[in-house]
Amino acid sequence: MPALQPVRGTQDLLPDVARRHRQVSETARAAALLYGFDEIVTPIFEFTEVFARPIGEHTDIVAKEMYSLKDRGGEDLSLRPENTAGVVRAVLSNGLTQSTPLKFFYSGPMFRYERPQKGRFRQFHQIGVELLGVAQAQADIEVIALGRRILDNLGIGDRVSLELNTLGDPESRAAYRDALVSYYAARRAELSEDSQRRLDGNPLRILDSKDPADIRLNADAPNFHDFMNLKSRDFFLDVRAGLDGLGIKYEVNPRLVRGLDYYTHTVFEFVTTDLGAQGTVLAGGRYDGLVELMGGPPMHGVGWAAGIERLALLIPEPQKPARPVAVIPVALVNEFPAVSEAEKLRNAGLAVELIYSGNMSRRLHRANRLGARFAVLLGESELERGEATVRDLDSGAQEAVSLGDLAERLKEMQSP
Ligand code: ATP
Ligand code: MG
Repeated sequence: MPALQPVRGTQDLLPDVARRHRQVSETARAAALLYGFDEIVTPIFEFTEVFARPIGEHTDIVAKEMYSLKDRGGEDLSLRPENTAGVVRAVLSNGLTQSTPLKFFYSGPMFRYERPQKGRFRQFHQIGVELLGVAQAQADIEVIALGRRILDNLGIGDRVSLELNTLGDPESRAAYRDALVSYYAARRAELSEDSQRRLDGNPLRILDSKDPADIRLNADAPNFHDFMNLKSRDFFLDVRAGLDGLGIKYEVNPRLVRGLDYYTHTVFEFVTTDLGAQGTVLAGGRYDGLVELMGGPPMHGVGWAAGIERLALLIPEPQKPARPVAVIPVALVNEFPAVSEAEKLRNAGLAVELIYSGNMSRRLHRANRLGARFAVLLGESELERGEATVRDLDSGAQEAVSLGDLAERLKEMQSP
């Protein structure tokens, strides 16, 4: 049998990495609650149409990256490549559209068929927030401020910077799109193959192409800021004024367009130079047309998603769990009393490792390897007296403690 391998682009999160992931998601969840964003959990697969139309048939995600399958009932299903469409689907299915504003936080796995590399996987994890039903720029400002706060609370605030742009309202965007199409169509042969394809479906996306030929053409492409109507201009000014008022620094990047079709007005990314090519850690924007596009009423929306893997690579080492107490049976004929003492200590809230087998020196060695500070040694004569020996594995000091006082005494010794 061939060696069992994980599927390409998936990975096992061993405890040290899983701890980093948890640090990211718990820090984010706590900060989100400060802003009133409560957790929502939607299924990791949906009908394919939940993603296809809203994200856009011509986006990389829908055109090349979705894990789609037919189930045994013949339904067309896809693993979620992102969670915004799923959250909006949940809002519609649960009849929540009357109770706006709605504020949700989520955390969980996403799936995209991409070329795996550092910070890029086929199963990856995102945290994210969605704020639905608010037209005002305050929504954009608060959602960005929350992202900023999470990055600060994770201790990586000064390793990321905020890039900001606007795609304007649909009217401005359509005018710009037309201008882009005529500019690129006149130079079609000079575009990369990918961008020739984008020209027909998703011309804005050419602007953030990494291909050298495209980059040359992009330098002289029409500038969106010349196509913005007054409403779009004012909205962007409000967002900027709000961020300025909060002291949140940003750079306006006119090339920032984001990959999904559903964005309008504000788009933003928090980026770092510390992760090589995969520099975007948190990204989002306003998506005012999305709910209606999915069959709901007109409803404003703004949100972001952040890649947990990328954040987990950046954050400082999280605190390890408390050092356990090791319970070590010493030549007991029947070791069950050790199991029972271990359980009593856990009932009192102590972390306990029962050391299962081997002679005394092997068991002590194992206790040290587990990082235990104190060992509880249980031998026949001690048990008869209702006692245990507590040994400080760091100093070697030991004392006899009656079993009834054991938990309290260990707690005292752990926090003198
Ligand atoms: P990229 O340009 O890196 O492909 P994207 O625009 O496709 O990113 P979004 O759809 O905006 O990314 O997702 C938000 C965040 O999720 C990204 O900024 C990134 O941190 C993370 N992310 C996206 N795709 C992956 C992936 N395949 N593996 C790991 N993290 C990912
Ligand atoms: Mg991508």
